[in-house]
Amino acid sequence: MTQHDAAQHEHGYCPVCGAEMLPDGGPSNLPHCPRCSYVRWSNPKVGAGVVAERDGRILLIRRNHEPMMGKWSFPSGFVDGGEVVEEAAAREAREEANVEVRIDSLLGVYSTAGDPVVFVAYAATITAGEPTPGDEAYEVGLFALDALPDLAFPHDQRIVDAWRQHTGR
Ligand SMILES: [Zn+2]
Repeated sequence: MTQHDAAQHEHGYCPVCGAEMLPDGGPSNLPHCPRCSYVRWSNPKVGAGVVAERDGRILLIRRNHEPMMGKWSFPSGFVDGGEVVEEAAAREAREEANVEVRIDSLLGVYSTAGDPVVFVAYAATITAGEPTPGDEAYEVGLFALDALPDLAFPHDQRIVDAWRQHTGR
């Protein structure tokens, strides 16, 4: 197979008219169909998570899955199509740490060039349940702000900073 064939194969066939897709180029610089102008958009993926507080400490989970397996982070995950973002954030706290949370406010929206994930972080309060690890966590814990473990993701520290600012701590 020539490199040219490999490139075409990689971009597949147009789902509208069946022509071979071309790689980036064209007005949007995305894979596109030379026959009918169909463009394969690179859609973002929306993630959501919570900084969930109880008695001045915040809930973290130690991830048992990639990316950043073994590192601590906030309960978080991808939003399902059609799901309310706040409900997705609360669902992740339930799934990963077995607690119910009340979503209090938006902390921020985080994205990085070249990364398709757009992450939405909320401040929340634990309203029920004792934190225990769900299927996606090795362990869970409530941490004081001055005793946080190393956090998994580049935006995690920005989220902590936003929470401090939000709560005045
Ligand atoms: Zn086409």
